[in-house]
Amino acid sequence: MKIEKNTAVTLRYKVADAQGKLLEESRTPMVYLHGGYGNTLPKIEEALEGRMSGYQATLALEPQDAFGLRDESLVQTIPKSQFPPGIKVGGQLEGQDQQGHTQVFTVMKIKGDQVLLDGNHPFAGKALRFAITVTEVRAATPEEIAHGHVHGEHGHHH
Ligand code: ZN
Repeated sequence: MKIEKNTAVTLRYKVADAQGKLLEESRTPMVYLHGGYGNTLPKIEEALEGRMSGYQATLALEPQDAFGLRDESLVQTIPKSQFPPGIKVGGQLEGQDQQGHTQVFTVMKIKGDQVLLDGNHPFAGKALRFAITVTEVRAATPEEIAHGHVHGEHGHHH
């Protein structure tokens, strides 16, 4: 069947930067509910609309169409004493941005008693190339449509 609103789409993907350096590869297939539910990037949905299982594409996306531009206000330096023990570079923790939204911060650097955090998505500010292969398309269940996400294997568990 064709990819259209309220289909569950299974795909494999690789993400590379604009120079072709591999940044991320799906270890297991990803499945998402198609149709503007915000489960994947709108440009990816646009490229897959009307396609079928077996479809392959490479999409070149500008940062604003991928994970957005970097927001330097999300880079913060916090005294180490405010963290639980065992904090490490590369670790992630949840905090709040200046508007009070929950935000995942990555520990970039620990220098003396100061910890540098970055709340930007690791791919923010990057032009990306997505190599996508669609491996399965099925109709979503009414429950999945009501929840706005896919259930079952590789999907949402709850
Ligand atoms: Zn659900």
